[in-house]
Amino acid sequence: MEYQSTRSARYRASGMEAVLNGIAPDGGLYIAPAMLGALNFDWRGCLKKSSLGMAEMILSFLLPEYGNMGELVSRAYAGKFESDELTPLVSVGDSYVLELFRGPTSAFKDVALSMLPQLMSAAREKLCNDDKITILTATSGDTGKAALQGFCDVPGTEICVFYPYGGVSAVQRAQMVTQEGGNVRVCAVRGNFDDCQTGVKQAFAALGTRSAPGLRYSSANSINIGRLAPQIVYYFIAYARLMESGRINCGDKVDYVVPTGNFGDILAGYFAKLLGLPVGKLVCASNSNRVLTDFFETGTYDKRRELRRSSSPSMDILVSSNLERLLYLGSGGDCDMVAEKMRELYEKGFYTLDDCLMSKIRESFSWGCCDEAETGAEIRRMWDTYGYLCDTHTAVAAKVAREYRETKNDGTALVILSTASPFKFPAAVLKALGGDTQGDEFDMMATLSEISGVPIPRNLLNLRQKAELHRDVIDRGDMLDYILKR
Ligand SMILES: *Cc1c(COP(=O)(O)O)cnc(C)c1O
Repeated sequence: MEYQSTRSARYRASGMEAVLNGIAPDGGLYIAPAMLGALNFDWRGCLKKSSLGMAEMILSFLLPEYGNMGELVSRAYAGKFESDELTPLVSVGDSYVLELFRGPTSAFKDVALSMLPQLMSAAREKLCNDDKITILTATSGDTGKAALQGFCDVPGTEICVFYPYGGVSAVQRAQMVTQEGGNVRVCAVRGNFDDCQTGVKQAFAALGTRSAPGLRYSSANSINIGRLAPQIVYYFIAYARLMESGRINCGDKVDYVVPTGNFGDILAGYFAKLLGLPVGKLVCASNSNRVLTDFFETGTYDKRRELRRSSSPSMDILVSSNLERLLYLGSGGDCDMVAEKMRELYEKGFYTLDDCLMSKIRESFSWGCCDEAETGAEIRRMWDTYGYLCDTHTAVAAKVAREYRETKNDGTALVILSTASPFKFPAAVLKALGGDTQGDEFDMMATLSEISGVPIPRNLLNLRQKAELHRDVIDRGDMLDYILKR
């Protein structure tokens, strides 16, 4: 399948090149124009496979240049998740919760960041075997650890993660600074997350993607098609489980509610639909940063607002980058329009889509949001009503799902995507349940486990005892030097 920039047909790339480059030279995102037409994908056959088999089939279809996808999938996932089903589907009340956080770092990001390093390493082997790829990542918490784990000891790659000093939770910090592996570096930066991200962007600008012969720089963020494609798989997994349980017949529509930040997760659901999966509505759930809710309601995307710090921090985002791909697909591949809107967003801070495109988009999506008080109340309600312990991000989706259900009650099966373990946000979850929030986050994890009877995931349980391997702290002006140091 061939890829090109969302902003211009001039920038084309094979799937492998798109994975290696991450972003197109004009700042656009890689997309396959073939997705504008009917795709000849055997989605029914795909549903009959195991989870890893589905991953192999979907990824081979989208990235056919890789000849050995089965091997790459196996290296990424086999034995690394709590089970090789990857993402279990749990029945909760009259809905279903798809648990995406059963990976090696208890983050939903594990699904994509286990696969991306394999795709990148294999692309490197075929296209630029002598180069070493250095992954630069700024993180506000979860992405850093999942990326470290995914790239740990992957041949030909090295990863360097920057996090804000004092700006991540104790658990997130412990996860990162205890990371083993011969090709990993972790460094705290005296500044906030934006400083880290700006530093990484400046480093890319200074170094180029290819600074010196033999050295390449890339990123692990969610605009890479190699991070997006693996996320399509769990939409199929959920659908297959619903068929097996007899809840649906093959061909019935299923609605999915997705706690959304950068619009990657939910866009993967749209890709699943384009591959033929009978997806009903994709419901976009936002926290109090309701920039997407407003977009769907009004047709204007407006980032000119204060970012609110919420208890679901992975969704505290004002620019949802992957929406750009939806504009491309929804408009039938109108690159000029996409380029113009992205320029308006950059220069003026907002853009408005025409009614025709908005109604096309609204055919596939629904939306809703959930504020801080409602998030806590939903965690409590899920626990009191169903005995299901969920985290803050999942609670945002659960509340939006409940409201969606109330307006549209036609018996369509509904799947809530759950993106984090409740033990990664023990303070907020305990508070919602009225539990004792004394001590540090590790104490709170223990308390939460005690009162709920739900075990702490193994990778989080032993964190406090593990040796700290990464102690570097630098000023924000020193990031480039730090990157070049080795
Ligand atoms: C990244 C993340 C999200 C948002 O996913 P997007 O693909 O950015 O929309 C939601 N919840 C958690 C816990 C996450 O880590």
